[in-house]
Amino acid sequence: MSDGDRGAAEAVARPATRGPARATRRCLAALALLAVACGDATDRRVPPADAPELVLLVTVDTLRADRLGAYGSDAGLTPRLDALAARALVFDRAYAPASFTLPSVAGVLTGRYPEELGIRDNESGVPGGVATLAGALRDAGFRTGAVVSNYVLRAPSGTARGFDRFDDDFTERESTRGWPERTAARTTDAALAVLDALLDDDAPALLWVHYQDPHGPYTPADEARAAQLPRYADDPAVPRDLPLRDDPLGLGGIPDYQAVDGRTDAAWYLAGYDAEVAATDAAIGALLDGVAARVPADATVTLFTADHGEGLGEDDYWFAHGELLTDPLVAVPLLLAAPGVAPGRRADVASLVDVVPTLLGLAGVDAPDALTGRDLLAPGATSAPARAYLATLGGARTPRVALVEGDHKFVLTLEGSIWRGALFERRPGEPERAVPSGDLGPAMRKALRDLRQRYRGAAETRQELSPEELEALRALGYTGRGDDP
Ligand SMILES: [Zn+2]
Repeated sequence: MSDGDRGAAEAVARPATRGPARATRRCLAALALLAVACGDATDRRVPPADAPELVLLVTVDTLRADRLGAYGSDAGLTPRLDALAARALVFDRAYAPASFTLPSVAGVLTGRYPEELGIRDNESGVPGGVATLAGALRDAGFRTGAVVSNYVLRAPSGTARGFDRFDDDFTERESTRGWPERTAARTTDAALAVLDALLDDDAPALLWVHYQDPHGPYTPADEARAAQLPRYADDPAVPRDLPLRDDPLGLGGIPDYQAVDGRTDAAWYLAGYDAEVAATDAAIGALLDGVAARVPADATVTLFTADHGEGLGEDDYWFAHGELLTDPLVAVPLLLAAPGVAPGRRADVASLVDVVPTLLGLAGVDAPDALTGRDLLAPGATSAPARAYLATLGGARTPRVALVEGDHKFVLTLEGSIWRGALFERRPGEPERAVPSGDLGPAMRKALRDLRQRYRGAAETRQELSPEELEALRALGYTGRGDDP
C-alpha cells in the first residue's frame, strides 16, 4: 500500500445505476466557472462535464491474443471477452513493448516505453517524476483505484502511483511454490469492492484490474484441464516427453517454475494454460456484470488488454516468456468499448504505450506531458504511420530489440558482439515468417537504431527489496539480468 487505502474492506451497497451523476457534475462545472468569473479563486478540481462515469482498464497477465475467439481461436475459451469484443473496437495488431510484466505494464500506465523510464526488469521501479494515467485522471478530479494480483506489480514497484486506493493484497499462495498471488474470482470480488468505494463519491472513477491466472504454473481445477485436454492429447505434433529444465528458461524444455508433479507431456500443460484462460474469462465476465449493475454502459469506457503472451512451443520455447520477441509473446489483445466509439476492427499497428493517450482522450483530459504513445482515436489515426518498438531488456539471456511497422517486424539479436537483423512478415491471423529483406530490411534497421537511441538513457530506479521479495520475484519466471543491449 503506498498512497491510499486498501479498498477491499470498505465495500458499501450501491444503487443499481448512477444516472444523475453526470448532471450533477455539469452543475459543479458551471458553478466552478461562475466562481472563477466572479474572481473567487478555487482549487477544487472539477472533472470535464462530459467525462465518462467510469474508465475501466482490465489487464490479464500472460494472455496470448490468439486464445480469444475474437482473435481467431475456435476453442471457445473466452465467451465473455468475445461478447465484449463484439461491441468494441478490436485492434488486430497490438503489441506489448516487452515480453515480461513490469516493463510492459509500466508502458500501459505511463504511455512511455520502458527504456524511457529506466525500467530494465521486474526489480526496477516506475520512477516518481513520471506522469501516469492514474495521476492525470486524479488531477482532473477522478477517483482512482486498482486491484493487482501479480506480486511483481505490488505497490513498491511504483505502479500504485496516482491511485487513491491500491489493493495488492495477495490472499492466496501459488500451489507449487507457495508464492503470493490472488486468483481470478477473488480478484473480481476485490475489484468490485474497490469500485463501490470509488463510486461512493460523486466523481468519475478510474478502476484498473490486473488478473494473474494464465501465468505459470498452470494449476486450474482438474476438471477444467480435462475439458481442454482432448484438443492436444491426440495431436502428433504435441511432444509427449519434453525435457525438464533446472532453470526458469523455456528454451527447449519445461522451465523449473512450471513443472508440476514431474510431468513432461506438453498436452497436459497446454490444456492447463487454456483452462486458466477460460477461468479468467469467466471472472472477467463477473467483473463486467458487476460494473454494468453499478454504472450505465453508455457512461463506461472499457479497455481490455494483456501485458504479454506466452511461448507454447513455437521456436521450441515452452511455457515461458521474456526471452523472445515473437508474436506468441508480444501480440496482445486490445479491445476498446466506449460511448461514441463504433465497434469494428483496426489493422494498423498499436502499442500498449498508446493506452494512456487514448484513455485520456476519451476522458476529456489533456495529457500532462508529451507522451510517446498516440491517441488511437485521434483524427487520422487509422491512416497515420504507426509502429511499435519492442525490447527484451533485462528479461532475456540473449538481448533482442524489434520494430513493428506495417505488415513487418524487424528483429535485431545480439549474437556475440554483433547485432544480427531479420525481417519477418505477419498478417492478422497468420504466424509471422521470415522474408527476404530487400530494401525494407536496411530501412527498418536504421529506424530501429534511431528509436533505440531516442528511448535509451534514462537512469534506472531500483526497488528496495528484501531477500524474501527478491526470491519471490525471481521465482515468478524471472530469468535474471541479461547483457545490456
Ligand atoms: Zn506478466
